Amino acid sequence: MNTGKDLASLKEKGAEIQLLAHTIAVLNWDQETNMPPKAIDERSEQISLVEGILHEKTTDPEIGELFEKLGVTDRQPGGMETLPEVDRAFLKRFYRNYRRKVKLPKRLVTELAGEVSKAQSIWATAKSKSDFSLFAPQLETVFKLVLEKAECIGYEEHPYDALLDEFEPFATTAKVADVFNRLKPSLTALVRKIHGKPQIDDSFLEKEYPVGKQEEFGTFILKEMGYDFKRGRLDVSAHPFTTTLGRDDVRLTTRYRSDYFKTGLFGIIHECGHGLYELGFSERIKGNLLADGASLGIHESQSRTWENIIGRSLPFWKRYYQDLKKMFPDNLGTVSLENFYKAINKVIPSFIRIEADEVTYNLHIILRFELETALVAGDISVKDLPEAWRSASRELFGITPDKDADGVLQDIHWSSGLLGYFPTYTLGNLYGAQFYSVLRKDIPGIDDEISTGRLRTVLNWLHENIHTHGSIYSADELCKRVSGLPLNPDYFLTYLDSKYSDIYEL
Ligand code: MG
Repeated sequence: MNTGKDLASLKEKGAEIQLLAHTIAVLNWDQETNMPPKAIDERSEQISLVEGILHEKTTDPEIGELFEKLGVTDRQPGGMETLPEVDRAFLKRFYRNYRRKVKLPKRLVTELAGEVSKAQSIWATAKSKSDFSLFAPQLETVFKLVLEKAECIGYEEHPYDALLDEFEPFATTAKVADVFNRLKPSLTALVRKIHGKPQIDDSFLEKEYPVGKQEEFGTFILKEMGYDFKRGRLDVSAHPFTTTLGRDDVRLTTRYRSDYFKTGLFGIIHECGHGLYELGFSERIKGNLLADGASLGIHESQSRTWENIIGRSLPFWKRYYQDLKKMFPDNLGTVSLENFYKAINKVIPSFIRIEADEVTYNLHIILRFELETALVAGDISVKDLPEAWRSASRELFGITPDKDADGVLQDIHWSSGLLGYFPTYTLGNLYGAQFYSVLRKDIPGIDDEISTGRLRTVLNWLHENIHTHGSIYSADELCKRVSGLPLNPDYFLTYLDSKYSDIYEL
C-alpha cells in the first residue's frame, strides 16, 4: 500500500478532468460571445467530442480502484482519517462526483443529451409562438429521461432529492420545502403591504442610455469591486454568465439594453460576484477539483450579495451616483440620489423571473419549485403545466399571464433537462443575507466603507470567509462555519423588511 502515490495519481486524474472542463468552457464561451453563426455545426461536434472524452475520464475504472486502495467508501467518503483535511475534502468531492457519474448508463447520458439539444430548439420556437402544445411532447420525453436519471442515482425520500443534489449537494426536498414554506407567507404579506403604498416613479431608467457609456461605467465599477482584468474580461452575450476557463481566467458577460438602464449594470455586478468567488480560491486548491463553488446556492449568494445587498444599497450610490450622473446628465441630471435609489429597488409583481425585484423574485422560484416537485412526484403531468402555472401565479402574485411565453415557457431550464436547479437561486439570496449579517457584526462601519468606495473591505471579508475555501466545505458546513448556524431564512426576511419599510414607508 502506497497512500502517497495513490493519492497523487488520483489528484493527477482530477487535474485532467479540471483541464478538460476548462477546455469545454473555452469552446462554449467563444460560441456565446464571438463565434460567427455558420461555425455552429463543427463547434457542436468539437464540444460533443471533448464532452465524450471528459465522460470517459470521469468514469475511468482506475479512479474506482484508487478510491478502493485509499479506503474511500460510502461510509467513509473522505478516506482514512489520518489524511490532511484538504485531502479528505478532495476525496469526498471527487468520490461524490464519481459515484453520481458511474451510476448513469452511457445510453441514458447520450439519449438525454440528444433529446435536450432537440428540446432547446423546439422550446425556442414554442416560446416565440407562445404555444406550449408545440413543446409539451418533447418536454415529456426529456422529463421521462430525467426521472430515469433520478432513479439511477437513487434517493432516500423524494426522487427530486437526486436531482437537487447535482446543483446543491446534500440539500433535500424536505429541507428546501421547509425553508420555502417559511418564506412564502412573509413574502406575500410584504408584497401586499408594498402594494398598498404609492408606487415609485422609475421612468427615467427607461430613457436612452447609450451602450458604450454603460459599458464604460460597468468596467469602472468592476475595477472598483476588485475584479482583475489581467485574469478575466467582460463581453456581451444573449444571456449573462460567468465562466471559468482556467485557474487565472474567469470571464464575465452581460447584455445591454439601450432603453433600460438596470439590465446591463446590475447584470455586470451580479456576474462579477460570481467571478470574484472563482478568482478567490486559495493557492492550495488551484487546479484541483476543490477549486469550485461549494454549491450553486453558495455561488449565487456571492452574486446576489454584490448585486442587491451592496449594488442596490444607499451607501453604494452615495459614492457612485455622482459618477453615473456625470455620464448620463440628460437622463439623471434632475433625479436626486434618493429617487434613484428608490427606482432601482422598485417592487412590482411581474411575470418574468429574470426581471423581478428582490422581494418578488423568490416567489418566482417558489412557484417553479412547487411545480417541479409535484411533477416529479407524479401529482401533475406535463400537459397540466400551463394551467398549474397560471393558478400559482394568481395565488402568489395576484396576476395571471395571458401568454405561455410570459408563463410556463419563459425559462430555458426545463428544455435543458435542468430539474432541481431553480431552488439554488433563492438559497443564494438566503445564504447571502445570513453571511452579510455576520459581515456587519465583524465590520460595524461597513456602510461608511462602502459609501467612501472602499469596496475592497467587503471583498476581503468575503475572500477570507468564503472564497478562499472553494468547496472544501459543503454549503451547510460553510454556513455553520461562517455564521455559527444552519441556513435560516429569517436573516433574509429581516433584511428585506428593514430595507423596504424604509423605501416604501411601510
Ligand atoms: Mg447567478
